[in-house]
Amino acid sequence: MIHKLIIIGSGPAGYTAALYAARANVKPLMIDGGTGFGQELLGAGGQLMITTEVENYPGFEHGIQGPELMQVMRKQAMKFGTEIVEEMVTKVDFSQRPFTLWTEDKMHLARTVIIATGASAKWIGLPEERPVWEGGLGGAGISACATCDGFFFRGKEIAVVGGGDTAMEEAIYLTNHASKVTVIHRRDTLRASKIMQERAFKNPKIEFIWDSAIEHVHDPALKRVTGVTLRNLRTDQQRELAVEGVFVAIGHKPNTSLFAGQIELDAAGYIKTTHDVRTNVYGVFAAGDVQDIEYRQAITAAGSGCMAAIQTERLLEAEGDTDILETPTNW
Ligand code: NAP
Repeated sequence: MIHKLIIIGSGPAGYTAALYAARANVKPLMIDGGTGFGQELLGAGGQLMITTEVENYPGFEHGIQGPELMQVMRKQAMKFGTEIVEEMVTKVDFSQRPFTLWTEDKMHLARTVIIATGASAKWIGLPEERPVWEGGLGGAGISACATCDGFFFRGKEIAVVGGGDTAMEEAIYLTNHASKVTVIHRRDTLRASKIMQERAFKNPKIEFIWDSAIEHVHDPALKRVTGVTLRNLRTDQQRELAVEGVFVAIGHKPNTSLFAGQIELDAAGYIKTTHDVRTNVYGVFAAGDVQDIEYRQAITAAGSGCMAAIQTERLLEAEGDTDILETPTNW
């Protein structure tokens, strides 16, 4: 069987694409990411599954929990006929149509594909960063999203790791909630833009610890953060810092390793798109964080999922039931 459309990934972009495509009678198959591979490669639902309260998704006046939002989106996409396979795509071949996608134990064929595999926060690599249900402190005081979790640190002292624009932005934002924010950076100069550096330096609630890395976050046994052990990378000296939260802000990486060599990626690994959502391969679209280095919001991802579905529907409509056509010159 050749599917008209396969959607890879099930965050806001994937579910919105599925909803639109299903309502247009395209009968999409979604391969949702299954249970993923821990923090490294999130499974079904993506980044919102490790978020708590979402207050900036329009339509939810009183906010909604990230996992609940994804559950509602999933149900809405299924209501109109989206078929969902709870697995991870392990390999793709976009060299000819129909495209071929493999999951662990099956092969799928598709006339069109929407890639919505999102991005993942980069992690330091500490065992404590694992989710709390795996014995770590991820989601229980260690976070990679200040706008998602900052609220829970009202009046508390916290640490932010990183020296780029994301770290400065997160640190500045977190001063709205925390009583003190300590930025821990592995060098003695920031990578962040001058303007962000100045804002951070001017903020009386922000302090810096230079040339240092976190060695341990305490205390997984208590299921909450009580402090960190730091090592000065120049002097090799250790010190303890009492904090109740750790925000890792060392950048994001798009989940595109699967597509290397198949579609065009930029230097940072994001999928290059034209016409908002078209990749360089005719019939393959990309939506959401996997192609968006700038906004990375649930609502912008959902918007681009909608665009990808509409463009897919137009492509399929133009092709009709004929055998697969050549790539048009205006793609
Ligand atoms: P980035 O510029 O790559 O900075 C990452 C920071 O994390 C660097 O300071 C890096 O240290 C540090 N780092 C990396 N790996 C680490 C590790 N394993 N342990 C400890 N520290 C580590 O990433 P970003 O800040 O996410 O920014 C990405 C892009 O988005 C940039 O172009 C940025 O300008 C843009 N952005 C802009 C804004 C804004 O303008 N408002 C906001 C956010 C992001 P080193 O410096 O030593 O390499």
